[in-house]
Amino acid sequence: VRLELSWAPTGRWLEADLYPGEDDISLFVRDVTERKLTQDRLIEAAETDSLTGEFNRRGFFTRLEAALTAQARGRAMALICADVNYFTEINDSFGHGVGDEVLKTVARRLKSCLRPRDILARTGGDEFMILLNGMRRPGDATTLARRIVGAMEERFELGDLSLRISLSIGLAIASLADRDAARLCRHADLALYETRTEAPGSFRVFTPAMEQESLRKRQLKRDLADALGRSELELAFQPIVRTADGTIAAAETLLRWNHPEQGRIPPAEFIPLAEESGLIAPIGAWVLRQACAAACRWPEAVGLSVNVSPRQIELADLPALVRDVLEATGLAPRRLHLEITETVLVSRNRHYLATLHRLRELGVRLVLDDFGTGYSSLAQLDAFRFDAMKIDQSFLRRIRAETDETPILNAIVGMATAIRMPITVEGVETQVQLNHVRRLGAACVQGFYFGQPVNEAGMQGLLARGLPASR
Ligand code: C2E
Ligand code: MG
Ligand code: MG
Repeated sequence: VRLELSWAPTGRWLEADLYPGEDDISLFVRDVTERKLTQDRLIEAAETDSLTGEFNRRGFFTRLEAALTAQARGRAMALICADVNYFTEINDSFGHGVGDEVLKTVARRLKSCLRPRDILARTGGDEFMILLNGMRRPGDATTLARRIVGAMEERFELGDLSLRISLSIGLAIASLADRDAARLCRHADLALYETRTEAPGSFRVFTPAMEQESLRKRQLKRDLADALGRSELELAFQPIVRTADGTIAAAETLLRWNHPEQGRIPPAEFIPLAEESGLIAPIGAWVLRQACAAACRWPEAVGLSVNVSPRQIELADLPALVRDVLEATGLAPRRLHLEITETVLVSRNRHYLATLHRLRELGVRLVLDDFGTGYSSLAQLDAFRFDAMKIDQSFLRRIRAETDETPILNAIVGMATAIRMPITVEGVETQVQLNHVRRLGAACVQGFYFGQPVNEAGMQGLLARGLPASR
């Protein structure tokens, strides 16, 4: 028999081997303190995140399982998942050294919000998890989440950089009846997902409805994978109208999905799913091919706008695709306008910037879409000269009467005019709004005032006969 014992008075570890003889027992004792300490250190190292000194995923899950089993009656537990907003961009922009410092500071600030019995871990790149143990009331968890949001508000001073960093947080409360660690994590993760998409920088608490929604999305993703093959995708076109004379300068391609059971699903819902799953690459390629082929049947002077997701630039060789499609369809490069939303700091992401330059070399026009909503930065306009920009429809919404004003929109149009960048204002729904945009002096407008987006035949009709609104 082999025994291991700690000899408390000395703090040393002993290993004893016992051998039974004919009528005696032999006992051999060794001091194994050093080996034992090394083992402990190895286990500790295997459970520690070397960057922040907190637990890593493995260390965290061991403790989570143990805490769930030992959960006391009348005490609540909660799990928090958090990640750093725009961490990839921070890394890309300022380098991994700065990224590391950000993570360390986040860990320190998180720790300062916790009580000794709570457990903090960095469980992945920019992902943190916290186990709130032995709470009196489940409401304590939301109080803590609020405190964490507050703890990130102060700017991060890193060397000569001063950054504003925020976390997105998902929270799930463990019930006494449910001690399944994996399920608890999934719930916190779903809450985090909702925070990311709906309220980055804030927090959400898991509800069963989130699970329903996630199942629906997963199903939609699966259906979307078959949509191309089953011809459920379809293109619609919306005229881009010259403010001066009401003639059609170009048409924007808008993707439509006719789901066999759920009917039309709006692109705002399925494009993000396609981006998540990577399906945006084949779908985007299909859109480009179909749209260019259609535009070849339009008058030479009419341009074609196609929306491009930044994910397509990450996933595929977009310039190569555009070149192939232009060659195959014979569309003049000048007629193709690629609309790209400003979701990344273009000037800071070298691959993205290089891709834009390669696209420009092909002779196509590059249009900054939805200006004023995302990462609008004036420095960005300087770093890459887009050929035109489109102003998000949200600005026009407040124009109802002739006397209504839009100071921000005025300023944006003024700035664009100053740098001689043609502007399209989106979301014109009424004559009043059209008059307003005319006064501002934007080159083009787009909107339901000129009718809903139409199919290819409809577009040919509009091109042949002109827009009803300007007839
Ligand atoms: P977007 O590129 O900003 O397209 C304009 C959106 O505004 C379209 O919505 C259009 O129908 C809508 N719209 C146009 N005029 C008006 C108006 O007067 N009032 C209002 N309220 N809305 C108006 P849609 O078709 O639902 O597309 C939404 C977004 O989905 C697009 O925004 C674009 O970002 C994305 N999207 C659509 N098709 C594609 C595509 O083929 N590829 C990619 N990557 N994204 C696409
Ligand atoms: Mg667009
Ligand atoms: Mg837009």
